[in-house]
Amino acid sequence: MTQKFADTDTPDAGAVGSATELDALIIGAGVAGLYQLYQLRKQGLHVRAYDAATDVGGTWYWNRYPGARFDSEAYIYQYMFSEELYKGWSWSKRFPAQPEIEQWLHYVADTLDLRKDIQFSTVIESAHYDEDSGRWSVRTGDGEIIDTQFLVTCAGMLSAPMERVFEGQESFAGDIFHTSRWPRSGGEVAGKRVAVIGIGATGIQVIQTIADEVDHLKVFIRTPQYTLPMLNPDYGPDEVAWYHSRFEELRDTVPHTFSGFEYDWVHEWATTPADKRQAILEEVYADGSLKLWLAGFGEMFFEKEVSDEISAFVADKMRARLQDPALCDLLIPKPDEYGFGTHRVPLERGYLEKYHRPNVEAIGVKDNPIARIVPEGIELADGTRHEVDVIILATGFDAGTGALTRIDIRGRGGRSLAQDWGREIRSTMGLMVHGYPNMLTTAIPLAPSAALCNMTTCLQQQTEWISDCIDHMRRNDYTIIEPTAEGEEAWVRHHDETANATLVSKTNSWYNGANVPGKPRGRVLSYIGGVGLYREKATEAAAAGYTGFGFE
Ligand code: NAP
Repeated sequence: MTQKFADTDTPDAGAVGSATELDALIIGAGVAGLYQLYQLRKQGLHVRAYDAATDVGGTWYWNRYPGARFDSEAYIYQYMFSEELYKGWSWSKRFPAQPEIEQWLHYVADTLDLRKDIQFSTVIESAHYDEDSGRWSVRTGDGEIIDTQFLVTCAGMLSAPMERVFEGQESFAGDIFHTSRWPRSGGEVAGKRVAVIGIGATGIQVIQTIADEVDHLKVFIRTPQYTLPMLNPDYGPDEVAWYHSRFEELRDTVPHTFSGFEYDWVHEWATTPADKRQAILEEVYADGSLKLWLAGFGEMFFEKEVSDEISAFVADKMRARLQDPALCDLLIPKPDEYGFGTHRVPLERGYLEKYHRPNVEAIGVKDNPIARIVPEGIELADGTRHEVDVIILATGFDAGTGALTRIDIRGRGGRSLAQDWGREIRSTMGLMVHGYPNMLTTAIPLAPSAALCNMTTCLQQQTEWISDCIDHMRRNDYTIIEPTAEGEEAWVRHHDETANATLVSKTNSWYNGANVPGKPRGRVLSYIGGVGLYREKATEAAAAGYTGFGFE
């Protein structure tokens, strides 16, 4: 089936800047926002997307730090609604780097002719719901007021950076870059003395990329991290033809797997003999992808003994590469620290070996934390100073909530989303929040987005659900939708039961808000029932007349 794009104009899709009244306002022009805009415009809505960036891309616009790349296979990190769009693009690698990903999103925006309905360089400062009109009044940083029936948030799960982390940052004499605010030009580190703080998926990509070119690299390590090696072959015409030929198969299977990847759980620890288990672990490890995490043994997430054995397997692989006991001590999680896969697993290429270079220094800051930034560099609690020219903050994000709590969002009765989520983070299937009528959401907590999910899979499903919901309302002459308090409570309970049965709930990371001072903890942010199951539940709720939601 091919898809024609020419029929996507609506009569009133006017020039940027002219509209003050919309049917739907979309916050964000990344993976979700682009597709949401395409769908709602096709449905005939007067819709516009707003983005703080100067161009499309979302995550792939902002995260242009050295080494940024996919760790989902490129051929599944795709829009699957159109065979023509899918086959019109060819990837150069299994896991391409940020520049190519950004170009692909430009290709999507151009092919679907989306830019004319996107207002760039525009920050959404506030969005207030008016109960009398049942509409949202949205204010931009430039003072423009937009009146809209639907507020659709496509602002990203990992888009509010933890940029101001240390006392004294403003005193630093050199450059400080947060990885997701890397300058579009400049940002040079070659030949300099550089510090990287953080060894999450981002820090690892930075470290392995810049280690060879900097004069000296100091890596500040608080919590050790399990890592898996990435295999990243080039793709020529044969590989492209191979994955293009799989379009229908991938479209029909990927959205129904546990993680929104092409692979799924096929092995069971309990019924597999010990020698066979080892062979399976070796096989999924050798795949050079996230398969060991997302298609190894699912019992790993529930049973401590299985988690311990698989964690030991990964730790042994890391130890064999690191060799030096001091490096092993700093970089490999201890058996009782936390289990492999209970927070985000990064893929790396030659990362561990970079610590063997004479210009790379691993500095443990668990027992001797970073106290402050000083003009010359970084000062630790014991007074030790590390002098550097550049500090790279790979310190992560206020995940799931930060993108929206940094906007002044007010729902019914003037209630503030920042205050509501400051007390307890709740949502109905990650698609709406009780108290905020006609605010439809993607990539917020209590849906699978980001944690155990290939993002494009989850975001396509959520935006399609939102488009279907709006279509349902228009066909039935409803103007307002809001989740009921009971509906939300039922989802929150189901979410917690699912999450609390896993070992993920026992590990501190951005998965449960532990990385942000003052953020409510104790609730795993992402739904862990699986992408396929979540999809079924969301589809069933809609088919049953939007169970858990009320219309006016
Ligand atoms: P992250 O996983 O939250 O890691 C932040 C790092 O900063 C951790 O090592 C953390 O240490 C450290 N840190 C924070 N504050 C610190 C402090 N005061 N002192 C010392 N260390 C400190 O953030 P991220 O690496 O940016 O990754 C976030 C998510 O983005 C990933 O989990 C992934 O979902 C996504 N991502 C995806 C890709 C991709 O390949 N597609 C690439 C990059 C990122 P502690 O662990 O001790 O807190």
